[in-house]
Amino acid sequence: MKSFTQISEIRSAIESGSTTCVELVGNYLSVIESKKDLNAFLEVWDVEARERAAEIDLKIKAGTAGPLAGAVIALKDNMAYKGHKVSNSSKILDGFESVFTATAVQRLYDADAIFIGRTNCDEFAMGASNENSAFGPVKNAFDPERVPGGSSGGSAVAVAAGMCHAALGSDTGGSIRQPAAFNGIFGLKPTYGRISRWGLLAYASSFDQIGPMTHSLEDCALLTSIMSGADGQDASMLQENRIPVWQKSNSAEVAGFSKLRFAVMKQAVEHEGIDPEVAESFKTLLSDLEKAGHEITYFDFPLLDHLVPAYYVLTTAEASSNLSRYSGMMYGFRSQNATDLESTYVLSRSEGFGPEVKRRIMLGTFVLSSDQYDAYYEKAQKVRRIIQNETLKTLESADAILIPTTSTPAFKLGEKSKDPVSMYLADLFTVQANLAGNPAISIPMFKTQSGLPMGVQLMTKPGEDIKLFDLSSEVLKFSK
Ligand code: GLN
Repeated sequence: MKSFTQISEIRSAIESGSTTCVELVGNYLSVIESKKDLNAFLEVWDVEARERAAEIDLKIKAGTAGPLAGAVIALKDNMAYKGHKVSNSSKILDGFESVFTATAVQRLYDADAIFIGRTNCDEFAMGASNENSAFGPVKNAFDPERVPGGSSGGSAVAVAAGMCHAALGSDTGGSIRQPAAFNGIFGLKPTYGRISRWGLLAYASSFDQIGPMTHSLEDCALLTSIMSGADGQDASMLQENRIPVWQKSNSAEVAGFSKLRFAVMKQAVEHEGIDPEVAESFKTLLSDLEKAGHEITYFDFPLLDHLVPAYYVLTTAEASSNLSRYSGMMYGFRSQNATDLESTYVLSRSEGFGPEVKRRIMLGTFVLSSDQYDAYYEKAQKVRRIIQNETLKTLESADAILIPTTSTPAFKLGEKSKDPVSMYLADLFTVQANLAGNPAISIPMFKTQSGLPMGVQLMTKPGEDIKLFDLSSEVLKFSK
């Protein structure tokens, strides 16, 4: 099958008669079948996807199709889609079916996207390797002995391995960008409040954002535009209309910024934990950008060591509150061993949640407890504000912050799973954007000698999602 990088190419191919939605869906389904071992999907909506494809083919013929006709999309298993199961890769939601559709999902549907299935992820989106899924780990699309990243690992692998055209992920601390980098695709965490969280199963509500995972910047921009815009169901959103669709032709030179200013965190090039191949290719990129007339400035970010601790105090606190609703009473799983109300709560939660989720609920409950609140939660809130201010300050004198998305390429399955702290450090470069609310994108830039992809991350000011696409398009010229 010809592989398409952009939805617009698919659409032209359908309109010229060289393929159909039915054929595309059939092809994706056979790739899903042949690459079952990667464990990317928890459920494939084959019959439904084929039927919908036939409908969309008719709409295209009739000239009434929406902008996403031809796009076959997978959903991370933490988004509500009415009448379909959603489990957040947890046993605690066993058998649960969504009773409404997430706003972001509905907007894609209304634009005529075809949904092909729901993808595996870390349980409750907590993880950086997909090894925390109750349904087994996903395997990296480039090397099945390596992790796909997390938590949206199933979505990243589904796209990278050709099982669908694009996918949705969610990003609380890097869960779109890190697996995108590990699988050689694009992944965007939009400005906080750009895309409605209504229908996204909450992990840490003041951090969570839905975003696209795609083969091209154009598709990333198209899907973001379609999902964006205020929604009465999510009061934390930017009260703005849908953002326009970014076009490559509007990018860098055309927009008049021939000399771009990139701010690079000193520690990101000097940190001893950075893999030499990541450091080397990143330095080459910086010198290429300088040669092309752009400006690179280095800034010191003494807060680096506080990012991951602040993130884990605040997100676990929010998670302990958000996950209190899974009590065995209303949703999904209820323990068969319970005898009364209290044992229903205790046993359903003990049997239903996996170890990482339990660890985070306990940590979050601890930092919120009355005698620890000031020492942890309140302090972390203050640190978050300082991080926000410092991030904004850096961006006053730069167009974007530029940094490798991850300090290493995809690591081996099992390599970090016994050591939560080393796993948490996999989030070192991604959590800043969630703590501060800025948009950030991972773009596929390089490969290691052994062929593993590496990504570069750009971050602009909150609200500057379109500018982020402009800058990415310029940086991409130097990909190798
Ligand atoms: N790896 C991070 C964590 O474990 C990020 C998760 C996410 O963005 N959902 O929390």
